[in-house]
Amino acid sequence: MTQSQEFTFQTEIKQLLHILSHSLYQNREIALRELISNASDSLNKLRHLQLGDEQWRDEAPLEITLQPHKEARILVIQDNGVGLTQDELVQNLGTIAHSGSKEFFQSLVSKAGEGGSPDLSLIGQFGVGFYSAFMLAEKVEVVTRSYHEATGWRWESDGSGRFTITPAGEDVLRGAQIRLHLKDGFDAFLEPDRLKHIVRRYSTFVPFPILLEGGVLNEQKPIWVEPKSQVSDEQHAAFYQWLTHRSDEKPLWRLHLSSDSPIQFHAILYSPPTNYELMGFGEIQHGINLCAKRILVQDDCRDLLPEYLRFLYGVVDSADLPLNVSRETLQDHRLLPKLKKVLTRKVLDHLASVAADDPQAFQAFSRQFGSILRTGIGQDFENRERIGKLMRFQSTQTLGSGLELPEGDEPRKTSLDDYLSRAAVGQDQIYYLAGTNVDSMSRHPHLEAFRKRNLEVLFLDDPVDEFALTQLRSFEGKDLISIDSADIRFPESTKPAVEEESKTPPRHFTRVLELFRGALDKRVADVRQSDRLTDSICCLVNAEGTMSSQLQKVLSTTMKGFEMSKRVFEVNPQARLVERLCELAGNPNNDDFIRDCGRQLYSDSLLLDGLIPDAEEVTGRSLRFMEELSRTRSVIAT
Ligand code: ADP
Repeated sequence: MTQSQEFTFQTEIKQLLHILSHSLYQNREIALRELISNASDSLNKLRHLQLGDEQWRDEAPLEITLQPHKEARILVIQDNGVGLTQDELVQNLGTIAHSGSKEFFQSLVSKAGEGGSPDLSLIGQFGVGFYSAFMLAEKVEVVTRSYHEATGWRWESDGSGRFTITPAGEDVLRGAQIRLHLKDGFDAFLEPDRLKHIVRRYSTFVPFPILLEGGVLNEQKPIWVEPKSQVSDEQHAAFYQWLTHRSDEKPLWRLHLSSDSPIQFHAILYSPPTNYELMGFGEIQHGINLCAKRILVQDDCRDLLPEYLRFLYGVVDSADLPLNVSRETLQDHRLLPKLKKVLTRKVLDHLASVAADDPQAFQAFSRQFGSILRTGIGQDFENRERIGKLMRFQSTQTLGSGLELPEGDEPRKTSLDDYLSRAAVGQDQIYYLAGTNVDSMSRHPHLEAFRKRNLEVLFLDDPVDEFALTQLRSFEGKDLISIDSADIRFPESTKPAVEEESKTPPRHFTRVLELFRGALDKRVADVRQSDRLTDSICCLVNAEGTMSSQLQKVLSTTMKGFEMSKRVFEVNPQARLVERLCELAGNPNNDDFIRDCGRQLYSDSLLLDGLIPDAEEVTGRSLRFMEELSRTRSVIAT
């Protein structure tokens, strides 16, 4: 091919380009950051090739050069990295390869559609950083030659929907030159001082020299190999911003580690302040920068931290890693699981100390990342108790503190350790109740027996919490148990106060239970006298060894064909209505009425558990009850 060929951008890119060139205020400096970061990636790829194969080596240092051409109003960002072939130009600068970009687009497009200004600063994280060039330029040229080809190509676009690719001959240098034909009003990007400022601000940790007029602009200092005490907060903030491409954020906390044995490594890990996954961006996967003796081996290594710590950013550098490992051989490298084990432990220990020393910071962290972290209980057998220690719950105690919360304040929460410190003598279970909201849970009939005995019950208002606790099963040797389970054991020490109240059930109580049993027949496992209720009239209890009803409810909505197991219907013989039904049970004419009451009470219990009874049956019956009651009322005022 000697002529230029025209191509059309993928639809999403067209939309992105439209937004980029039409949104008013944006921090346009980030465009430079993205282009420099692409240049650095390309140089890294070449360095790897050179380490692995002699034929790609030469004397030329790997570097990035900025060239402002004032007259022509062109800014050039040049690298001598791997460059692009014609196919790569079409693929990489015309379509979106990254899967994570979809959500980013959706959020951008919907924001722009509403007339709002979308946040473009995240662009680099979603694999479309190159296009930010159109924030500065009315026309972009990419002149490039791939390291394994003899001739080069020129890619060109004005950002309006099409691009052309033309052969550029043998004179093109290896690597890529991004030529920005600046828009009107952006001449400041040709000023050396401004360029210096931008590079220092956003790109100082790029591991290759960035040259301007012969001088090097960036420091490239690998701060992770420095002694911990020598690195300032400012340096950390800058490094964090460079790693994350988030120019206005500071890390929530950091962990700077060094170790000589059994594995040699330096590492810095950062927790971001916000969890973008909670904002509907989908699962954000970025990995950790893995270096061998300060040279980047992989910039998105996912094998260094478990899935449940995927939100952390950072760098890990080990001298025990050979420099020339490839992405592929790295996967099976035996060092990685070892590093992962150590790092995971360190992060969890660090979180425990944050929780102890700075509860507020820990709360801020939990709010953002608690939901990801606790999935670790199911994934990481070895560390599950450590993760369990980091969970926080509301409970009958934290609610019952009598403190009214100031507006906007978070409810007080307890850890499992604190719970145990308040446990009763001989208490060998940790009690919890799961539901959808703490307010209604706190009025659940099951709680009565626990309140009477002064036993604390945890409230789990997120199904993920209950899954986590079910997987944890026990904590410090105490079983975690849902209070709607038949396996509940009350500690001996809490008994006496309750026994005073227990009376013998009224006459005909067994007859009432029998009628209830007949009426509910196939719907319950059994009907029996309750010794856990004191005020409420009835409740449903899970048979021994079955899951809590909340968990079953979640499963029944997510798993096809899942059937909830039958439960035990417990009746309080001391409740006023039950006493009256016992009196009525002496007369067989009342049998139907008593059966109906049983059915209605059963439906009420389902409702209290957030389950839906047969609506037609319930409404039909309550209508009958009301009709019957209304007949006993007088029409004349007395
Ligand atoms: P990302 O860099 O996150 O993949 P970009 O939109 O910035 O997304 O770049 C898309 C692709 O274009 C890159 O993955 C890379 O393959 C290619 N590319 C961009 N800039 C360069 C460059 N300077 N040299 C070689 N390839 C490049």
